[in-house]
Amino acid sequence: VPADEFAEFAHAVERIHTDLLDERSGEVADYIPTLRDADPEKFGIAICTADGQVFSIGDTAEEFSVQSTSKPFSYAIALEQLGPEEVHRWIGQEQSGGPFNDPLLSLSRDGRPHNPMINAGAIGTLALVESGKDQSGRLATVQDTWRAMTGERPQVHGATFLAERDTGFGNVAFANALAKVGKLYGAGPTDRRAPEDATEFYTMVCSLTMNAERLAKAGATLANNGVAPLSGKQVFSADTAARVLSVMGHSGMYNDSGQFSNQVGLPAKSGVSGNVMMVVPSKRMAVVVFSPRLDAVGNSVRGVEVCKRLVNEFGLHPYRGM
Ligand code: GLU
Repeated sequence: VPADEFAEFAHAVERIHTDLLDERSGEVADYIPTLRDADPEKFGIAICTADGQVFSIGDTAEEFSVQSTSKPFSYAIALEQLGPEEVHRWIGQEQSGGPFNDPLLSLSRDGRPHNPMINAGAIGTLALVESGKDQSGRLATVQDTWRAMTGERPQVHGATFLAERDTGFGNVAFANALAKVGKLYGAGPTDRRAPEDATEFYTMVCSLTMNAERLAKAGATLANNGVAPLSGKQVFSADTAARVLSVMGHSGMYNDSGQFSNQVGLPAKSGVSGNVMMVVPSKRMAVVVFSPRLDAVGNSVRGVEVCKRLVNEFGLHPYRGM
């Protein structure tokens, strides 16, 4: 990204940040204390280009649990380790038609979760990762991948993990449902512990701490065909990055994924802590917004608005203004 273009973009980000400080609609997620207690006023926007230029405005160093925005990267790790054919024997790649935690609409008729962005799919995806190792070894692989992208090894936020675990009845149910139909990788027919372990691993990964700036660096790795912009490390293959962006493009924004595709048209993923990671592909950049107030489907209100404004202003919608 040429320096003058970057400066212009950064300038627009700064203006949009100021404009949206007064936007206070939406509600902070309230299903666990650490999310309920988040300061709703926090607002940060970070961008990282595929060639490693970073711009941050507002609360971009504020730590939050990554939550569902871990899912694209967990999918990437599984693709790298097992290849797409094996991964998709276990997990689909279609829209689910239901909420991310829907007990009835999460599995397709063949027993596979619809895609890796819904909870059942993310649990099943992580079950594929380093299945020969113990839980701490598996977590280390995920942490090391994040470090390769962002330069820092994220830690599990203890209180978030414990609260997610203690309220995660639905997630345990998904893991059990997968095991029952033979679609939980590594779970034998009499392996009572396997669903618990799979859910624990998933919950740990959702509870990793992140901030907007580091998440932008991770997103920029996807924009840069799998190469981390700051270190030059090839973290994922170009094919993996493309597959991840593709599923983000149709299923990354909960039940507004279709509407978001219409209005924004770029791959994005959101998490209930109030983060939105949008990728401008083809070696452009990632934009990450952190702002905890969520709309009715669980997307950060300011996050979605920032994406819309940037895309309109810079003509980034791939299907519009051609
Ligand atoms: N940890 C949450 C859950 O499993 C996911 C939250 C999210 O969608 O960001 O329910």
